[in-house]
Amino acid sequence: MSLNTRSPERGTVLFVTAEESWASSPARRRNMQANRSRDTGPELAVRRLIHAAGLRYRVDIRPLPDFRRRADIVFTRQRIAVFIDGCFWHGCPEHGSRSFNENAAYWEQKISRNVDRDADTVERLEAAGWRVLRFWEHLDPAHVAEAIAKEVGSAR
Ligand SMILES: [Zn+2]
Repeated sequence: MSLNTRSPERGTVLFVTAEESWASSPARRRNMQANRSRDTGPELAVRRLIHAAGLRYRVDIRPLPDFRRRADIVFTRQRIAVFIDGCFWHGCPEHGSRSFNENAAYWEQKISRNVDRDADTVERLEAAGWRVLRFWEHLDPAHVAEAIAKEVGSAR
């Protein structure tokens, strides 16, 4: 399996050569790549909604400067870190590993590492006094935005 982990495209963490296509159709491959993109889809929808609600936040930064993990949406003063987790990459029980069938063992291992890493991120941030909010990307952005606004409001 030849992985190119240094794709120049920002936000794309890996790329598999075409002959070893990990998605069964170009449409699915595009969809999966879109799921990695930071400025499209569910995350952007959530950001638009909370911005419209008057919340101010930072995007894609490290909540803790010396901890090399970024959060999708960060409220520095309130110490709230928000993650909008892609269903495929973070092992959503509804849309996780069932959505692919080629190289299943490889992807399951990779996703399981992501899940472990996610748990570790939560632990580290909470230990540093942060609140961590994680949402699956399949959730209704309006509900996610509402939940974030509520947390930020009560942290003021
Ligand atoms: Zn899902």
